[in-house]
Amino acid sequence: MYPYTILINKERPLAPDYRPQNLVCADFAFAAAPDSEKRLLEKETALAAREMIADSQKQGLALYGISGYRSFVRQKELYEASTSGYVAPPGTSEHQSGLALDLSCPQVGLQLVEGFAQTPEGRWLYRCAPLYGFIIRYPREKETVTGYAWEPWHVRYVTRALSLYLSLTKMSLEEYWNI
Ligand SMILES: [Zn+2]
Repeated sequence: MYPYTILINKERPLAPDYRPQNLVCADFAFAAAPDSEKRLLEKETALAAREMIADSQKQGLALYGISGYRSFVRQKELYEASTSGYVAPPGTSEHQSGLALDLSCPQVGLQLVEGFAQTPEGRWLYRCAPLYGFIIRYPREKETVTGYAWEPWHVRYVTRALSLYLSLTKMSLEEYWNI
């Protein structure tokens, strides 16, 4: 069984050579080029995301995948090039696990910005992501617990059982693992 509920953060990094064996190319609305590494996701994560995006489209919404899998090497390049403070050090990004996905919508120019949370797509994602096994991994009210600034665009697949549990208890993944 793939470790879907794994906690990855600055204290618990992934090994530099960690790469999921079951990466597949996302086959739903995605802003990245067809051959981009950004489209890769762990297989079950990709299936859950496809279902979520399809259901959101039935509501007339336009959610787009922006970034899925990211290798240790790519994360290292981004980290070294960034001055924003948003970019996680290499090994500590959930994107290396293939279980994390950044989403956005045309109303905010497909950018990863806090304003996404106020769009119909961002509000729908906040409400409905747990129904598909995803959590908003870095909520606004948990910044001191997760150690990350609010990222309304970043969802993490944890299985539907755990996402619903975390949603009902209002716990972050850190709090769940520290029980
Ligand atoms: Zn992200």
